Amino acid sequence: MGRIRDNVQKILSEIPAGVTVVAAAKARNALEIEEALDAGITIFGESYLQESRPVIEAIGSRAVWHFIGHVQKNKVKHVVPLFDMIQTIDSLELAVMVDQHAARNGKVMPVLIEVNSGREENKHGAMPEAVEALIRQICALPNLRVQGLMTMGPFLDDYTGLRPYFRETRTLFEELRSLSIPNVSMETLSMGMSDSFRIAVEEGATMVRIGTMIFGERPY
Ligand SMILES: *Cc1c(COP(=O)(O)O)cnc(C)c1O
Repeated sequence: MGRIRDNVQKILSEIPAGVTVVAAAKARNALEIEEALDAGITIFGESYLQESRPVIEAIGSRAVWHFIGHVQKNKVKHVVPLFDMIQTIDSLELAVMVDQHAARNGKVMPVLIEVNSGREENKHGAMPEAVEALIRQICALPNLRVQGLMTMGPFLDDYTGLRPYFRETRTLFEELRSLSIPNVSMETLSMGMSDSFRIAVEEGATMVRIGTMIFGERPY
C-alpha cells in the first residue's frame, strides 16, 4: 500500500500547471482507484465498458469518468449515461448515436475527436485531413459538445519517435481553434501516456493519460 499514492504525487509534482492528468484505469479495481483518488487524481479513463461498470458504480460521482477506448456502436447506449466525457469520437455515425442517447438521458456529452495521427489504416481515429469536415458536421448536434482532440500516435519501439505525431496534432488543434467553429471549444488536447507524457507536454498536450506509471504493470 502507498505505492499508487507515491506514484501519483511524483507525477503531479512534475506536471506543469494547466495540464490535467487522467489516470488510465483499465484492469484496475475500485481499491486501486480509491488510492489514486485519495492522492489527488480526479479523472479516470476507462477503455472497456464491461469491466468499468462495477468500478464506476462503486466510486460514482466522487470521480470524473472519461471513456478512452474504442466505442462499439452497440455499446453507445450504455456508455453515454455512465461517462462524463468520450475522448474517442471518430465518425459522424458514432457522433449521431452519442447525440441521440445523450438527448434521451437529458445530458449534453462533452467529446474529443480522436485523430489517427499516424495515418494507420487499421487504427481508429479520424485522419488528420478529415477532422475539420467531421467537426463541422458534428457541431450541429445539440446534445454533444466538441471540446478538443485526442491522439494515441503509432505504436513504436522507441516512444521518442512520437514527437512529430504529437506536434502535428497540436498544429491541427491550433488551426481548428483559430476557426472558431460554433459550439466547438478547442480547449483540451489529450495526448501522451506513461512513457511519452513528457514529450506530449513539451508538444502542447493539456491532458495526459497515464496508467502503468500510476498503477504499475497491468495484470492482463
Ligand atoms: C491504457 C491507455 C493509456 C495508458 O497507457 P499506459 O502506457 O499504461 O500509461 C492511455 N490512453 C489509452 C487510450 C489507453 O488505452
